[in-house]
Amino acid sequence: MPVDADRKPILLTVDDDPGVSRAVARDLRRHYGEDYRVVRTESGPQALDTLKELKLRGDPVAVLLADHRMPGMTGLEFLEEAMDLFPHARRALLTAYADTDAAIEAINVVDLDHYLLKPWDPPEEKLYPVVDSLIEMWLDSDEHPVTRTQVVGHRWSARSFEVRDFLARNSVPYQWLSSEEPEGQRLLAAAGADATSIPLVVTPDGDYLVEPSMSRLADEVGLSTTPAIDFYDVVIVGGGPAGLGAAVYAASEGLRTVLVERQATGGQAGQSSRIENYLGFPDGVSGAQLTDRARRQAHKFGAEILTTRDVVGLDVRPSSRAVRFADEGEVVAHAVLLATGISYRKLDVPGADDVTGLGVFYGSAATEAAACGGDDVYIVGAANSAGQAAVFLSQHARHVTLLVRGDGLERSMSYYLIRQIQEISNVDVRLNTEVTEVQGTKRLEGLTLCNNLAGSQETVSAGYLFVFIGAEPRTEWLEGSVARDERGFVLTGPDLLHEGQRPRGWNRDPYYLEASVPGVFAAGDVRANSIKRVASAVGEGAMAIQLLHRYLEHR
Ligand SMILES: Cc1cc2nc3c(=O)[nH]c(=O)nc-3n(C[C@H](O)[C@H](O)[C@H](O)COP(=O)(O)OP(=O)(O)OC[C@H]3O[C@@H](n4cnc5c(N)ncnc54)[C@H](O)[C@@H]3O)c2cc1C
Repeated sequence: MPVDADRKPILLTVDDDPGVSRAVARDLRRHYGEDYRVVRTESGPQALDTLKELKLRGDPVAVLLADHRMPGMTGLEFLEEAMDLFPHARRALLTAYADTDAAIEAINVVDLDHYLLKPWDPPEEKLYPVVDSLIEMWLDSDEHPVTRTQVVGHRWSARSFEVRDFLARNSVPYQWLSSEEPEGQRLLAAAGADATSIPLVVTPDGDYLVEPSMSRLADEVGLSTTPAIDFYDVVIVGGGPAGLGAAVYAASEGLRTVLVERQATGGQAGQSSRIENYLGFPDGVSGAQLTDRARRQAHKFGAEILTTRDVVGLDVRPSSRAVRFADEGEVVAHAVLLATGISYRKLDVPGADDVTGLGVFYGSAATEAAACGGDDVYIVGAANSAGQAAVFLSQHARHVTLLVRGDGLERSMSYYLIRQIQEISNVDVRLNTEVTEVQGTKRLEGLTLCNNLAGSQETVSAGYLFVFIGAEPRTEWLEGSVARDERGFVLTGPDLLHEGQRPRGWNRDPYYLEASVPGVFAAGDVRANSIKRVASAVGEGAMAIQLLHRYLEHR
């Protein structure tokens, strides 16, 4: 039997007579101790509390052995409640001769598997054969030990989606359980919560978090959120390809490096279902896989990675630079690399905000894909990101419609993707089409589509809408400290020179990726005039570290 050493299945006994309780536990341990953990309790309520803890820890319970005549709660009452927590655990009642009636009642009420008569000596004849058969029955059932984080939530709960998306994007394996299914309800009950307190997150250690904040969740699943030391050589803001690329090079070259990410490492690339044009991956690679490897590589070289920390300010001090967090605190370093990329533009039509996370999603196709099975899915956008999502979702959804505002895809989407889409039978492209309204309150129900040539309108029912309508840098927090272009992209190197003149106060030209403040660099999509590609972001991240070395040497 495949049994994790720390997760031996449990044989639980409950008897209010301490002498009997000890004796039965001793006999069980002697015979089953190598493969099973024997847990002894002395009352029904105490046994139920223990079972709740075991449930939250994901420990498997194989057998429940209960005395019947106990004060407060009878064995039968205990088994009835225990069944709600561990329906697969096999059940036996320990009875005295006079309790045969109780045993018969138990067979009807809790589907009792056996009743054992006290005393059970010799156990080889009277106890072990019964317990052997209970264990055999349990092994035939499909209860398996759970060693992963479990999330209990609801498909149409925006917070449940956020938690799942966060765990998936940070490569934390988890098991999803709907609050409507029996196992989800059992976990909620064990945590003293109900269907209104979702999401519930249960860690492999059995700790549970009801509607957790992202930073609490990050802490609980082992992601760092606070800096380990007071001063670094470089602080990198943003954990997309540019930030991760920089972290790998900086840490591998011996710089004390910390990367601060507000959500989950991977950035936009982490949301891409398949990147087919990144060097070295002829068969394509999912963005999550690529960025997960990059994160591990950065870790391996000693870079510190903080998640769920939103940077909201940059302080330029005489001999250091500091970035401030939204929820207090700062990180101080010799130099700063801005690698904050770009974020999806919001769909600005009536109704869209009401059902964001409840059918309307920005990116994130990968997390929701499995749930789309059998639904009609709409995607807004005409760039590669929308095309990739259409190809990916077509494997899950009944039908996918790509809504394109312009009159073709050729100008905005790679040729290879256009070809792929043309060959998929359940993907349609509707050109000259815009979403003008979103319907639904508790979840997305429909969309109003407008043909911008004919001016005609149509309402369609829709379960899912994925929005990929371009993105913008969110760099408002740099206002007043770092020069940006009119769209908010960070100006660097040659872009800072006006008619060949250096910015005021500079006694050298800014390095190629250096921003208007010495020692502050920018790489990737956030940089003005950058090429919006994974390869160029990674390349700029690496290059920024070389320039940063130069800055440190010549300060
Ligand atoms: C769905 C999709 C598919 C794509 N497919 C491809 C493809 O096939 N090939 C290709 O070459 N390119 C592709 N791209 C483009 C590519 O992903 C981007 O060019 C690349 O990710 C840019 O990397 P970056 O590190 O500059 O920024 P991003 O990937 O945007 O990462 C920036 C990170 O910074 C974080 N951040 C932002 N502000 C803050 C703050 N204030 N504090 C802390 N953290 C912050 C963000 O949360 C984010 O994680 C795709 C993009 C998308 C969205």
